[in-house]
Amino acid sequence: MAKGLIASFGEMLIDFVPTVSGVSLAEAPGFIKAPGGAPANVAIAVARLGGRAAFVGKLGDDEFGRMLAGILRDNGVDDGGVLFDTGARTALAFVTLRADGEREFMFYRNPSADMLLTEAELNLDVIKSAAVFHYGSISLITEPCRSAHLKAMVVARQAGALLSYDPNLRLPLWPSPESAREQIMSIWDRADIIKVSDVELEFLTGQESVEDDVVLTLWRPEFKLLLVTLGEKGCKYYTKDFRGSLDGFAVNTVDTTGAGDAFVGAMLRKIVDDQTILQEEEKLREVLRFANACGAITTTKKGAIPALPNEAEAVELLKRD
Ligand code: ADP
Repeated sequence: MAKGLIASFGEMLIDFVPTVSGVSLAEAPGFIKAPGGAPANVAIAVARLGGRAAFVGKLGDDEFGRMLAGILRDNGVDDGGVLFDTGARTALAFVTLRADGEREFMFYRNPSADMLLTEAELNLDVIKSAAVFHYGSISLITEPCRSAHLKAMVVARQAGALLSYDPNLRLPLWPSPESAREQIMSIWDRADIIKVSDVELEFLTGQESVEDDVVLTLWRPEFKLLLVTLGEKGCKYYTKDFRGSLDGFAVNTVDTTGAGDAFVGAMLRKIVDDQTILQEEEKLREVLRFANACGAITTTKKGAIPALPNEAEAVELLKRD
């Protein structure tokens, strides 16, 4: 049986991270390129686990854009939905964790190519052929990409796809926290599956708690699955009929970048071919254990994409515990 396609929509960019740790951006002696962008990471996570994945988004028609498209292809992700903008550059983000624990960001999005994707440019064939359509919220920040995002969701839904949403809050990219909350919530009710981290849960609910009563304020009757990831503590899950939690895996964590994307990719890779997972708690728990393992493995190496596991690596960790 042909595997269902998971199409991931949004941004792909390059993070520039200092060659040494614990310095400010101004102090950094040099930077190395780390390809990323949560939706692109999810597509690669799916493909690395043997699933069928496509990425839909726009890159700059420049060396970095071509490099990123090459990374998608090299990882087995269909790039038929990738466009190149001749007028704007591929997005860049300079990111560091200073010795005092503060994160510093500097974005080159003035605007970047991903922000300029238009409705008319969307590759509708790719979107219509998806069994799962996955997206974040960064593509909602500015027009014309926002309208393209909304259109793509409608087309995917009409074609019968499951809609999967991981807001991936990046506050510094939004004009204000209020607009971030408002826009993230503006498409809330339309998803089938939503994954938030504990930090996002707190931001969206305004409450410092991951207790069920707080999480359930985000529940909607249309949802099939709501997930809260808790870093090394694992995850909590909520469906119409059941809810519960699963512990994470203890590993030697080096860099948590991409853990959430690995988790989402792993979960979608299983759900796409067997949607009864969403109705049967035992099956769902097995899939979320697998997703926890994939998230954990991703923290054991630097960077997101290089650290995403294949099936054998995930199975190995599952056997250990
Ligand atoms: P995000 O990357 O979106 O902030 P999390 O940090 O919650 O999301 O990570 C997603 C999943 O990855 C977690 O649910 C967990 O299974 C796994 N994970 C993340 N960090 C760790 C860690 N330090 N040790 C083990 N597993 C982890």
